Amino acid sequence: TQYVYRFGGGISDGGQGDRNLLGGKGANLAEMASIGLPVPPGFTISTEMCARYYEEGETFPDSLRDEVANGIAHIEGVTGKTFGDAADPLLVSVRSGARVSMPGMMDTVLNLGLNDATVEGLAKKADDERFAWDSYRRFIQMYCDVVLGLDHGRFEEALEIAKEDRGYTLDTEMTAKDWRALVDEYKSLVKEMWDKPFPQDVHDQLWTAIGAVFGSWNAERAKVYRRLNSIPGDWGTAVNVQAMVFGNMGDTSATGVAFTRDPSTGEKAYYGEFLINAQGEDVVAGIRTPQYLTRRAREDAGAKPLSMEEALPETFAELAAVFDKLENHYRDMQDIEFTVERGKLWMLQTRTGKRTARAALKIAVEMAGEGLISQDEAVIRVDPAALDQLLHPTLDPEADRDVLTKGLPASPGAASGKVVFDADTAEKMANNGEDVILVRVETSPEDIHGMHAAKGILTARGGMTSHAAVVARGMGRPCVSGAGTLSVKAKEGVMRVGSREVRQGEVITIDGATGEVMVGEVPTVKPELAGDFATLMEWADKGRRLKVRANAETPADCRTAREFGAEGIGLCRTEHMFFDSGRINAVREMILASDEAGRRAALDKLLPHQRQDFTEIFEVMAGLPCTIRLLDPPLHEFLPHEDEEFEEVAKAIEMDVDKLKRRAAELHEFNPMLGHRGCRLGVTYPEIYEMQARAIFEAACDVAAKSGDAPTPEVMIPLVGTKKELELMRAVVEKAAETVFEEKGRRLSYLVGTMIELPRAALKAGEIAEKAEFFSFGTNDLTQTTLGVSRDDAGRFLSTYVEKGIYARDPFVSLDVEGVGELIEIAAERGRATRPEIKLGICGEHGGDPTSIAFCEKVGLDYVSASPYRVPIARLAAAQAAL
Ligand code: ADP
Ligand code: MG
Ligand code: MG
Repeated sequence: TQYVYRFGGGISDGGQGDRNLLGGKGANLAEMASIGLPVPPGFTISTEMCARYYEEGETFPDSLRDEVANGIAHIEGVTGKTFGDAADPLLVSVRSGARVSMPGMMDTVLNLGLNDATVEGLAKKADDERFAWDSYRRFIQMYCDVVLGLDHGRFEEALEIAKEDRGYTLDTEMTAKDWRALVDEYKSLVKEMWDKPFPQDVHDQLWTAIGAVFGSWNAERAKVYRRLNSIPGDWGTAVNVQAMVFGNMGDTSATGVAFTRDPSTGEKAYYGEFLINAQGEDVVAGIRTPQYLTRRAREDAGAKPLSMEEALPETFAELAAVFDKLENHYRDMQDIEFTVERGKLWMLQTRTGKRTARAALKIAVEMAGEGLISQDEAVIRVDPAALDQLLHPTLDPEADRDVLTKGLPASPGAASGKVVFDADTAEKMANNGEDVILVRVETSPEDIHGMHAAKGILTARGGMTSHAAVVARGMGRPCVSGAGTLSVKAKEGVMRVGSREVRQGEVITIDGATGEVMVGEVPTVKPELAGDFATLMEWADKGRRLKVRANAETPADCRTAREFGAEGIGLCRTEHMFFDSGRINAVREMILASDEAGRRAALDKLLPHQRQDFTEIFEVMAGLPCTIRLLDPPLHEFLPHEDEEFEEVAKAIEMDVDKLKRRAAELHEFNPMLGHRGCRLGVTYPEIYEMQARAIFEAACDVAAKSGDAPTPEVMIPLVGTKKELELMRAVVEKAAETVFEEKGRRLSYLVGTMIELPRAALKAGEIAEKAEFFSFGTNDLTQTTLGVSRDDAGRFLSTYVEKGIYARDPFVSLDVEGVGELIEIAAERGRATRPEIKLGICGEHGGDPTSIAFCEKVGLDYVSASPYRVPIARLAAAQAAL
């Protein structure tokens, strides 16, 4: 097997398509080199080597030694420098690079190949002592951190003291002599902490660094990140060894990061930060405040230090041309690292840029407009789950705000929550159902579990490309970064701005779109659904086959659903209507009645209420199909549980308390999920379903009479397991319909169907379809009954099941395609065999989950039904499934 792939100097052994083998970084370095961009030469050791490295007890096969030697020879050939040569040394970086980017999780070592001899050669060759010793101290520090695992705090401290002693504030003030002295200090630190002198053999340096980068794949923080982002542990990382280029060679040298479009708003404008006379991670680490890339961005921010466009105009023009070339080549927004060495531009990384949902939308729509991608591609580009960010409320612009401070708008969205200063507490409180805002001086990869748990993130330091900003955008968490006036005293559990104090546990609100931080909770408003959103949705609707309906039972929810583009109601749960304060007592009278006459008397009281409910819903949903599920939950759910409540209820319905309690106890069930519920209620008390059916048809006739736009009621019988159950219930519904139509002198078309939520129903679907005009897969219950897992009790073990890979994902969130999915396929097939025109839909939680929707498309269901806010997500996911 070949493990080493070269790039640069006119050679590219790999390319864009090899990301599994070479990692994203390596594949794209090779790709950039092959399209003629200036990439320092190097080679990639493949991810296959990573797997082998772990299989063979963290050792390298001999064959790799030769391959790496050839790789180094390739770099030497292109650069004309020699690795370890005291006169003209080749320096390299050793960089990690997994298939997918894991920001800040993996390790990199820069300036490798420096030792006491080569540093002199480097100084002479570059004619710059300061640069050479600056590079050496950087190398020692990074090597000790990444490879030797020594406490980097000690090195930072030494640098701080060196600056203080000399009265400097900036690293750039350090002279050649100062750096040289610091290197001496670093070397004694190494001896003290490691017991051995700093390694001088460059080949030794190289191999230990390669081992360390492979090793960083299994660092604790990398494992946590993978778990949170569902990245398999066996993917491994590649290692890139690449000739160094130097951004720290004086005032015509620089390093920077950039996006080809604004990753926050999606605007078509170059976006980024750079630092003159700096190296690698200085920009991200926030050692100095980075400068803007473009003049416009600098002016907009009212900042003084010159932008790159102004300070290095020629190089900037070159960079801008590279941006355009990259976008045209990759046909997507790119996230780029570059370095300028004495005026010469070098590209060090490109990848598809992470972006907010808003930016994703805008970029997709605009790129389609520019002809860079097709409309269908635009639809495929936007992650349906990310739309969630846009569909949720933003801060009410009219509301009062007590603004505490302002930082950078690092990741949009608004969030309120209790202030928490550390990730562990944030996670703990969030697990207890509290909303928290994680506040840090700056975040580090160790904080990700807390960032994940938090509703929003606030930092005092760090720019728009800081760790906090990048990770928050990726997670879809609102984030305000670099709030400079904020002083965070985590240990004291307090943060201050001037004389104002906010303590841990107090509520703040952050607005990731403006950077504002407010004390207290600020009310929110509904999102704007016009513009790019509407355009993309229109394209999505053209591409999809599945219809999308909503699960809704109040007129307000129905209205939201229609605004979001729902094409009907897929599930209207009638029990919610029974809980309403105006009628719960009539419901209880019905339950407690000792005979049918008593029940009918109570149901008569309920009828007008129920009719009113349906009338309002039908008015909103005029012209569209509405699936209404008849009463489903066990009756004891409507009875009181607490002693005081019993008293009250007894009084209200004029019944003896003891009798009430006795009756409630009689109704108690050991396993209500499998108890007296669903159509079993209708079978034992047909008058309940009769009343509900009557209410539905009366309401439908009334609305049709008034508006002429008749809704199509689809009456749904829950928890059916046999044909006979459905046959009986169907007769009740049909009789009610006939009676109403006769009374009203108007006939309406309607359907009667059933939910498929028991394995028996799925298996006997062929028979059941004789009596059902539609099936709606109630996948919540179908999952419970198929897996034999109660959703309410699954919390105790399900996460362990997912961790151990027993289920790939929580089967209540994403459909268990293999098990439950097979039952759905069987039911669909058998149902259609009996009744080819049978309507098939899904109405569980899964109706809004993109992977589950893809399954529904595959099986050829007619519609999915999701909660109103998830309707757009479902529309987009349905289009993606079809395209
Ligand atoms: P990460 O994945 O954490 O971004 P990288 O491997 O990309 O790590 O490197 C960290 C920093 O060092 C980046 O800013 C990168 O541009 C810089 N860098 C990496 N290799 C070189 C090199 N050969 N010459 C100059 N700078 C480099
Ligand atoms: Mg790194
Ligand atoms: Mg990088």
